[in-house]
Amino acid sequence: MTYIAEANRYEAMDYRRCGNSGLKLSAFSLGLWHNFGYANSFENARNLLRTAFDHGITHFDLANNYGPPYGSAETNFGRLLDLDFQPYRDELIISTKAGYDMWEGPYGNWGSKKYLTASLDQSLKRMKLDYVDIFYHHRPDPETPLEETISALDLMVRQGKALYIGISNYRPAEAAEAFKILKYLGTPCLIHQPKYSMFERWVEDGLLDLLEQEGVGCIPFSPLAQGLLTDKYLQGIPSDSRVATSGKFLNESHITPEKIEKLTKLNVLANQRGQKLAHMALSWLLKDQRVTSVLIGSSKPEQIVDSIMALQNTEFCEEEIGIIDHILT
Ligand code: NDP
Repeated sequence: MTYIAEANRYEAMDYRRCGNSGLKLSAFSLGLWHNFGYANSFENARNLLRTAFDHGITHFDLANNYGPPYGSAETNFGRLLDLDFQPYRDELIISTKAGYDMWEGPYGNWGSKKYLTASLDQSLKRMKLDYVDIFYHHRPDPETPLEETISALDLMVRQGKALYIGISNYRPAEAAEAFKILKYLGTPCLIHQPKYSMFERWVEDGLLDLLEQEGVGCIPFSPLAQGLLTDKYLQGIPSDSRVATSGKFLNESHITPEKIEKLTKLNVLANQRGQKLAHMALSWLLKDQRVTSVLIGSSKPEQIVDSIMALQNTEFCEEEIGIIDHILT
């Protein structure tokens, strides 16, 4: 059936300015790392995108190697754009990345101009797009001169293949250098995509301050630590969970007794706040205005609806912050 987006989709979502740019992002973005490859159900993928957009999520995040197999999330996304979202292209922010292993040989990984240029061209073909809204360098490359990587990003913008540039997984000193070069070239960095959650707090050690100072947005990935920061693993491993169904990046060894103890305590606090643990973990990120958008993943449409309920309470009193810090140390 022809998809018609919910008429009131923009009403309940919050939109935050991305650093000093002209662009606003929905407080939640949807990532296509898991659940969108050929290995997954196409109908479920379709429902995930529809549900997200119907609830005001305007930003979909991809990468060249999302699948499995590599590239298939972009191909499926291209098909879904054709089927459902062509009329809404100008209401969408679509991002992709290159920087990890994608194809064989010396030109299919890391940060050379050769790799990044070819990869974006491939991504555009797979998604059947003329341009992406944001193109990211996925991770720093210790061997390629940063000037080469960053000039390649700047060129993509000049060629009209990307509107904005982002970087991901760059530590503060590397990020500062990248911002400097981008500014010099006249293409200011739009956004940084770091791993950030209650279980992964390195960004608090200099990166968030740098982003604020430089007017760059922040979009934390894996905000639920791939599903750990929910109540689902408190009583064992559900058969439909990422640990049971995927296991490549999150497996049983991550669910240690220490983690369960912390999760149990966090769950009690969340309930006292009238939230589920997943809501508290997401609203804890959104309490900081330097966080532009929280980049969630979802295996089921209901999870999207559930997760965005976090917006209903993003305030934390000092006592709650203290309790959370104490539990997490
Ligand atoms: P999350 O931490 O949000 O984990 C998502 C998983 O948690 C879901 O697939 C689901 O797993 C579970 N979940 C989600 N919502 C709920 C809920 N409300 N209740 C219970 N369980 C829930 O994010 P991801 O790790 O998936 O990462 C999100 C995105 O970040 C990626 O898609 C990608 O776009 C980006 N990313 C970027 C990286 C980078 O290097 N730049 C690296 C990794 C991710 P299940 O139901 O299967 O248990």
